[in-house]
Amino acid sequence: MRTDTIAAIATALSDSGIGIIRVSGDEAIPIVNKIYRNKKNREVLLTYESHTIHYGFVVEKDGSLIDEVMVSVMRAPHSYTMEDTVEINCHGGALMMKKILMTAIEAGARLAEPGEFTKRAFLNGRIDLSRAEAVMDVIHAKNQFALKSSIKQLRGSVFEKIKALREKILYEIAFIESALDDPEHISLEGYAEKLSDQVSFVIKELKKLLNSADDGKMLKEGICTVIVGKPNVGKSSLLNLMVGQDRAIVTDIAGTTRDTLEETIYLGDITLNIIDTAGIRNTEDTVEKIGVEKAKTISEDADLILYVMDSSVPLDENDADIMRMIKDKKTILLLNKSDLDEVVDLTAVNELLSSVSEKRGSVYMVSENMEEEEGLHDGNDNIVMVKISAKENDGMDTLVHVIKKMFFHGQISYNDEICITSSRHKEALLEALESMNQVCGSLENQMPEDFYSIDLMSAYASLGKIIGEEVGDDLVNEIFSKFCMGK
Ligand code: GDP
Repeated sequence: MRTDTIAAIATALSDSGIGIIRVSGDEAIPIVNKIYRNKKNREVLLTYESHTIHYGFVVEKDGSLIDEVMVSVMRAPHSYTMEDTVEINCHGGALMMKKILMTAIEAGARLAEPGEFTKRAFLNGRIDLSRAEAVMDVIHAKNQFALKSSIKQLRGSVFEKIKALREKILYEIAFIESALDDPEHISLEGYAEKLSDQVSFVIKELKKLLNSADDGKMLKEGICTVIVGKPNVGKSSLLNLMVGQDRAIVTDIAGTTRDTLEETIYLGDITLNIIDTAGIRNTEDTVEKIGVEKAKTISEDADLILYVMDSSVPLDENDADIMRMIKDKKTILLLNKSDLDEVVDLTAVNELLSSVSEKRGSVYMVSENMEEEEGLHDGNDNIVMVKISAKENDGMDTLVHVIKKMFFHGQISYNDEICITSSRHKEALLEALESMNQVCGSLENQMPEDFYSIDLMSAYASLGKIIGEEVGDDLVNEIFSKFCMGK
């Protein structure tokens, strides 16, 4: 299949040392040949071997010089797109890159659409859809985890896993279909039991992948975190400390933070999308009241609540209200102002908690030496308390440790476990799981074999969506349109 030749600036369109213009397609080499001259002013690009790089010049139609460049030639199929590709390394000025791109277009190339190079790599069969999506994830990775996991996906981890599951399912479909076609030679006697084992295995694997999706999403996109607490306890100070700049206004007057502020914070491996809310307390002031209502609504959707208390001021009815508000949420209680004399201690907090919520466990203190971590186990209702001083920058390491324990079972692992980070993949896995559960149901009810095969086929198709084998042009176009230019 012949394709037209596309060109785009592959590097950022800002002034920098080097810029790259990428040209790919059947005519890539002849097109760049028209605008490239070597040191001896000769038109020689056609003679260059694949995977070589050469010094020379890009020139106008009349032969006048545009820029001093290095061009690399990659012949099909050994290139990113599997097509003939030329990359022109020029000086990285925005104007210069545009000028060279325009010259390539005048010589016969067409401006590439966003993601069109990667789309060609997918359509030409070099990478599956999960790997194509990983390309974008690598580029947009904002923390170590996202980077590692997207590189792993780029190397085919998701593809391999999905392929193996699909093969298993396909084998069963083929067996059922052959037996139904040729009952004389292939018997389905006792088959239900065997199928049941296979179905259980696939379901277990699908669940494992789905379980990883929640962690994966939070690691990649960040934990939606809300800071709550009464006015003046140090919420803005904490936020500023984490962000590293004076973003929220810190004052001594209670109720200064009236609206909500949002920040993305990178704490090593983890990303927190933090929302700082207005101080929560009963108030008659209307503007403040709106802020308080908003804080309540936001807290409902949060993955994590950071509940800040002032350890130098006794607890009151407002704290009881906050406790009620967050009673179902994963919470870390930050006992702030540890540099001042303590009037609120663990016992006081526990008393308050038991007075407002029967359902909730206890409050556990996690100290700097991190010995007592009973309260940190995943899935219980305990609240973990950490003493901090936002003023003295004390206790932050413990906080990060606690978050990792709560969300990612301790250390964020970079092991070989696959982590699903795409909601598109998660959706397809859920569909596949539903179909496999249907198969289970049919087995239990001893339905005829063709019932199994119908649901197995839909599970097979759902998994195919992840790697791009069962997707229509519309979806392919939509996925690649989210890419950046030149990729
Ligand atoms: P918010 O209303 O909860 O956002 O509280 P702010 O961050 O505005 O802090 C209220 C006051 O407490 C300010 O004067 C801060 O400087 C002070 N503050 C915050 N954190 C600490 C702390 O750890 N120790 C001490 N001593 N004061 C603090």
